[in-house]
Amino acid sequence: MKKLLPALLLLAAACKQKEYNADMLVKNAVVYTVDSNFTTAGAFVVSGGKILAVGSADSLEQKYNAREVLDAQGAAVYPGFIDAHAHFYEYGMGLQQVNLVGTQSWSQIVDSVKVYAERNTDGWIIGNGWDQNDWTDKHFPDKAKLDSLFPMRPVLLSRVDGHAAIANQAALNIAGVKPGQTIVGGEIETRNGKLTGVLVDNAVGIVTRKIPEPTPAMVDTALLSAQKNCFAVGLTTVDDCGLPYPMVNIINELQHKGDLKMRLYVMLADRAENYEYLFKKGAIKTPGLNVRSFKVYADGALGSRGACLLKPYSDSAKWSGFLLSNPKHFEEIAPKIAAHGFQMCTHAIGDSAVRTMLKIYAANLKGKNNLRWRIEHSQVVSPEDLALFGRYSIVPSVQPTHATSDMYWAGKRLGKERLKTAYAYKQLLDQNGWLPLGTDFPVENINPLYTFYAAVERKDLKGFPAVGFQKENALSRTEALKGMTIWAAKANFEEKEKGSIEPGKYADFVILDRDIMKVKGSQIPTTKVTKTYINGVKVYDKK
Ligand SMILES: [Zn+2]
Repeated sequence: MKKLLPALLLLAAACKQKEYNADMLVKNAVVYTVDSNFTTAGAFVVSGGKILAVGSADSLEQKYNAREVLDAQGAAVYPGFIDAHAHFYEYGMGLQQVNLVGTQSWSQIVDSVKVYAERNTDGWIIGNGWDQNDWTDKHFPDKAKLDSLFPMRPVLLSRVDGHAAIANQAALNIAGVKPGQTIVGGEIETRNGKLTGVLVDNAVGIVTRKIPEPTPAMVDTALLSAQKNCFAVGLTTVDDCGLPYPMVNIINELQHKGDLKMRLYVMLADRAENYEYLFKKGAIKTPGLNVRSFKVYADGALGSRGACLLKPYSDSAKWSGFLLSNPKHFEEIAPKIAAHGFQMCTHAIGDSAVRTMLKIYAANLKGKNNLRWRIEHSQVVSPEDLALFGRYSIVPSVQPTHATSDMYWAGKRLGKERLKTAYAYKQLLDQNGWLPLGTDFPVENINPLYTFYAAVERKDLKGFPAVGFQKENALSRTEALKGMTIWAAKANFEEKEKGSIEPGKYADFVILDRDIMKVKGSQIPTTKVTKTYINGVKVYDKK
């Protein structure tokens, strides 16, 4: 009996353990859990849409009865990727418009518009994504060709960063734009007393405000088509930076119906009605939607010389760019956002814009804090200002593909010395010890593996430059993976529910056809997502 009792107890325990039921066992995998020790595991169990346990296949198989077994066949598995800065809805709308990304000349753009206009015979013609830096003739175009092709139909074609656009006369007429007209924080280009159609920064808005509202069906199609493409690159959460408040209900309903499975972190745009809405309603939090943040614009972009610099542009001696609003505006809204405990996220590219915002943030945050106020892009940062990020727990939110997209011409804008203070991701990471990564799509490609590649290799897709651009600011692979998982989750106050494969978290994960932590750097960008899961449910399968 003395011998039998422990054996019986063991047997009873074993039987009891096998009674645990689970929805799925993922095994034969290299699971990068991205937990605090950056542990890898061979298997994990999913139940009720959440991670139940992580460990070895043997131990988990003994303990759990899984309805479904997913044999990863040795593949690497990562937490679902999070894009900490993107324009998800806008990207989806763009999929229904003329795609001008990668166009090599103005005449190629005009051709794309013609093709689109033949297939879509009425309404505004809206295009996005051109970048004159990609052209042999790098001057802004004028509207003459568009006027002759479309004398009656309004056309508006935005630059890749959205900070400049070209409109035809029909569009300018609807918006009532006149030659010589001026606007604060923008430019309406007039040459020899005539409008060229080129609009910079705030001037773009005069025309975009006249574009008829999209129909509800168009909005749904935009969100669902954006989701489809994002799942195919392993994204399971996207930060949508700067939406109008009515989008919150639309997203919520589409998620409620089960059509929109993508998790979204929504920043509302800097507009009176959005503040009024969220201050009154309070933060919104469901498993798929988190609204507790505002997106503010301090300045424009470097490419169109709209970024606000401390000293003039190196290729435009008397021009330093400008702030998009009077600093008083930021000083007024910051304490209101702080009083509600909400997050302020400010687009700041130039070192002057970054400094202005760091100071306003500092005055409100006072010292170390947990409000996680963000400076989106933090692209050019004066070395003197770097320490402010750490001192006031201000989060730099960066997009590594910007470095490798801009590197061909950024030196012209900034000069050699100042270029060293730009795209300084490693230095920015050092300030708080964590750094969220994003893409800013549709400005950049949606693929988070391009982010990973640009962050660690600092090269373009052709492998240029061979030594990497300002390689001292590259991130390690571990840092880059954290940046697009757990640190991005933290920037969204969601590190307790996602960003790693750990018990209790959402079963959001991706399987890749290569292990990006181990393959040669040049193989990272061609690595493909084979499966994407949200809540333990497959939302993408490459097959
Ligand atoms: Zn953006």
